[in-house]
Order: sequence, then structure tokens, then C-alpha cells
Amino acid sequence: MQQNISLAPYTTLGIGGPARWFTQAHSEADVSAAVEFAREHGLPLFVLGGGSNLLVSDAGFPGCVVHIALRGVQQQTDGEDVLFTAAAGEEWDAFVAATVEQNCAGVECLSGIPGTVGGTPVQNVGAYGQEVSATIASVRALDRTNLRWVEFNNAECQFAYRSSRFNTTERERYMVTSVTYRLRRNGEPLLAYKDLAQHFVGRAERPTLAAVRAAVRTIRQRKGMLLTPNDPDCHSAGSFFKNPVIAAEQAEQLSKRYATMPHFTAGAGCVKIPAAWLIEQAGFAKGTALGAAGISSKHTLALVNRGGATAAAMLALRDAICARVAEQFGIALEQEPVYVGAEPLA
Ligand SMILES: Cc1cc2nc3c(=O)[nH]c(=O)nc-3n(C[C@H](O)[C@H](O)[C@H](O)COP(=O)(O)OP(=O)(O)OC[C@H]3O[C@@H](n4cnc5c(N)ncnc54)[C@H](O)[C@@H]3O)c2cc1C
Repeated sequence: MQQNISLAPYTTLGIGGPARWFTQAHSEADVSAAVEFAREHGLPLFVLGGGSNLLVSDAGFPGCVVHIALRGVQQQTDGEDVLFTAAAGEEWDAFVAATVEQNCAGVECLSGIPGTVGGTPVQNVGAYGQEVSATIASVRALDRTNLRWVEFNNAECQFAYRSSRFNTTERERYMVTSVTYRLRRNGEPLLAYKDLAQHFVGRAERPTLAAVRAAVRTIRQRKGMLLTPNDPDCHSAGSFFKNPVIAAEQAEQLSKRYATMPHFTAGAGCVKIPAAWLIEQAGFAKGTALGAAGISSKHTLALVNRGGATAAAMLALRDAICARVAEQFGIALEQEPVYVGAEPLA
């Protein structure tokens, strides 16, 4: 167990103070041992994956941070499907690349998303019309409350838009050590998303999985959503805000005032509004800066560290955006990245 390790280098935002205690878990035994250590010392425990969906407090984390570093991928053919069981510390995009290389369909649209395999079920990672909930067969995890190993099937994960049991009802209870994906060998790529389908307009043949993966990465890079050396716009935690889902009546009232407001049906009586549209209408354009915190010049939803930003600076920008959107539209934006440590009192 190491002490006082700066967390900033472990995050894509590059922000955050030290972990009082820090350990790398390379095996399931390491994971259990870290939980026992935290228990014995009465410490809070935080599970760190790739750090791509985190905003770490400037004061750091007063307990024990466990960096999930378990590696390895196993596969097994099951009829037309292949079951891939990947250890939680595997890099997600490398895993996607390996499945596409074997011509297995189901996660190709999720190419270029940073982070680890273990992080994917937590917020039901999604992009370009695909979500991991469509292909996760099972999730293996340690229950921190009783140190028992459990395996959840897909339904038991309770997936929904950017959520699962792991970040809602049982937040922080489970430490994921591996995820099994059921992918279709020689399956068709998914072209559900407008931007992606447009990329292939005018081509006679249906694109291969590899072509879709390459297209997704190209589109993501254009938006600053692919980790790219020397691109200041990717010093982010991805989308900082979820797309709000509001009551259909409220959406109807707003549509009368804002005829161009984009909106999408999101279940019975509910409407999803793009957070990026709300933020731009509230006066925050791409490239807006508030000190060292800013909005990406390529993507309104990504808040970026422009160099030397503190967590406090990021929160000030977040609060300014949320306050103006709430005032103008009566909609409360919800933050997507997980805040690590204690949020300073306003
Ligand atoms: C440039 C960029 C683009 C992005 N684009 C997308 C996108 O298109 N779609 C999308 O959904 N997300 C996107 N994200 C967000 C992020 O990449 C994903 O949420 C990712 O799955 C987080 O995984 P991670 O390993 O980095 O988790 P971390 O950031 O380390 O942790 C996030 C949360 O998951 C928990 N966690 C992580 N690993 C485990 C584990 N093994 N067991 C239990 N809990 C765990 C942590 O405790 C924390 O609560 C983007 C981020 C960036 C920086």
C-alpha cells in the first residue's frame, strides 16, 4: 500500500489531489485484500479504473484508492456468438479493436472511448446508437459489504441510460473484476446514428466492422472525443452533462417558446433534450473559458482543463452553466462524471 499518491495523472482531466492510501490490484486476491485493509483501518475506499469519467477534488481522497489493474481476455465460441471475458483492467478501446479484428459485432460503435473494461457496465457506456447493455452477458464482482464474489446476468445489472445498479441503487457496493461480452461473429455493424450512417452514404457496399470502427474514431477525433496527443480539447471527462429527460408537457411548453428546440421521445410521457443545445442557448459557446476551466472548442458538452485547472475551477464553470440553464429553461442539468472526495461547500 502506497501513501499520498497524486491522483491527477490517473485521470483524463489531469486534476486532483492525493490519495491517502493507494494500491494497484493485479488479481482478485489483491482486490479482496484492499477491501480488508480499508475495513481494518476504517477508511473509505474508491475504485479507480481508467480515470476517464472522474473529477477528483483538489484535496484528494482521504481513504484508500484501489487502481484496477487485472489483465487478460478469454474467449469461447457459442454457436454464432463468441463470449469474450475480459479482466476489468483491460483498456476498453484495445478490447474493442481485438473483437473487431476477429470480425465480431456488437461494440464497434463504442470504439475510441477511453477507460477500462471494468468501467463500462458502471454507467452503461454508450455512443453512436450502441450501449454495452446490448452485449454484456455477465459481470463478475466483489461485494464489498460481505467480501463475497457475485456474478450478475444482464437483467440483474439493471441497465438504463448511463446507469446500472453499480452507479445507482448499489453505488460503490461492487468492485467489478471481469465482464463477459456476447458478440456475433461475422455480424453486421450498427449504423443507427445519423452522423455515422452519413459517413457511408454513396458507397455501394455495406461497411465492414473495421470500417465502422475507423469511422467512429475519425468522427470522435473531430469532436475532441478521442484521446489524441497534443489536442487540448481532449483533456476532459467526456460529456460533462447527461441529456436531461423531462415531462412531455414541459417540453411542449418550451417548444412554443423555442421552435427549433431538438427533442426526442424517451419513454412514455418523457422527452429527452440535448444538453448541448440547452447550454449553447444559455450563452455558453464552444471554446468559452472561465479561468483555466473551459468548454471544448469542438464539443459543447465537454468541459476541459485548459492547463493547470483546479477541481474548484471546473465546479465554478459547471455551476455557472447549470444556473443559467435552470434559469432560462427550468431544467436541472445532471453531471455525468463521478466526483471523488468531498465537494467544497458553495
Ligand atoms: C474523451 C472522452 C470521451 C468519452 N466518451 C464517452 C462516450 O462516448 N460514452 C460514454 O458512455 N462515456 C464516455 N466517456 C466517459 C468514460 O470514458 C466512460 O464512462 C468509461 O467507461 C469510464 O471508465 P473508467 O475505467 O475510466 O472509469 P473511472 O473514470 O476510473 O471511474 C468511473 C466510475 O466507475 C467506477 N469504476 C471504474 N472501474 C470500476 C470497477 N472495476 N469496479 C467498480 N467500479 C468501477 C469508479 O469507481 C467511478 O465511480 C468519455 C470520456 C472521455 C475522457
